Amino acid sequence: MKFHVMTLFPRLVSDVLSESIIGRAQKNGILEVLCYDIREFSKDKHRKTDDTPFGGGVGMVMSCQPIFDCYREVLSKTSDDSRKRVIYMSPKGRIFNHGVARELAEYDELIFLCGHYEGVDQRVIDGIIDEELSIGDYVVTGGEIPACIVIDAVSRLKDGVLAESACYEEESVASGLLEYPQYTKPRVFEGMEVPAVLVGGDHKKVDQWRLEKALELTKIRRPDLYDAWEKEHPKTNKKKK
Ligand code: SAM
Repeated sequence: MKFHVMTLFPRLVSDVLSESIIGRAQKNGILEVLCYDIREFSKDKHRKTDDTPFGGGVGMVMSCQPIFDCYREVLSKTSDDSRKRVIYMSPKGRIFNHGVARELAEYDELIFLCGHYEGVDQRVIDGIIDEELSIGDYVVTGGEIPACIVIDAVSRLKDGVLAESACYEEESVASGLLEYPQYTKPRVFEGMEVPAVLVGGDHKKVDQWRLEKALELTKIRRPDLYDAWEKEHPKTNKKKK
C-alpha cells in the first residue's frame, strides 16, 4: 500500500513513520510512504504558502496554488488504475475509528493533506479532497500527527505488517470488546502475582477467563461497545450473566 503525504513539515511525518513496525514494513516493501513539501511548490518569490483570511480574523490560511501544484505532483506518482482516496486531516471531518481504518485499508493509495495555522482555503477542499477525517474532538496544531495516526492504524491491517492477523483481530475495539489484562514474566513482581489461571496450562480456562475479563472491562468503560457485542453474541452472553 502506498501513502502520499502533502505537508509543510515532511520530517514530522517521515521521522515518525520510519521507526518500529511501520518503518520495518517500509524497508520490507510492504508499505511506501512518500512525503511532499508543499513549500517547494510555491511560486511566491519568498516561497510563501499562506495568507491572511478574506473577511478578516486571526491567523493565516494555507493558499491554493502551492497545494494544487503539489497535488499534481502527487498524481504523477500514483498509478492510473489504483484505487485512491484523497483525505484532508481536519477537526471538522468524520471521526476516525477502527471501522474507518478497515474501509481505508481497501484502497491501494491514500493521499493525505495536512493543514497548519487556520487550515486551508476552502477551494482546496472543494477541488481535490474526497473526505475530511478527524482524529477526535480536539484541535492539534497540524495535520501531520493525525495523518501518522491514520497511516499507522491502516497499515497494521495490511498483510505482512504484523506477525499474524490475530495480533489485531483480538485487540481492543477490533474484536468488539476491550482487551483482557495482559501479564508477562516474572510470575511474582514485588508481591503482585499473575492470576493463577494464566499459569495453570488449561487453555480453555484461559480463554474463558480472558472473555470474562474483556466483558467486565467493556461493560464498565464502554457500555456502547458492550451493548453492540451483546446483540451480536446473545448465546455467549447469556452464559456470562
Ligand atoms: N481553524 C481550524 C478549525 O477550527 O477547524 C483548525 C486548524 S488546526 C489549528 C490546524 C490543522 O491541524 C488543521 O488544518 C488540520 O489539518 C489539523 N488538525 C487539527 N486538529 C485535528 C483533528 N482533530 N483531526 C485531524 N486534523 C486536525
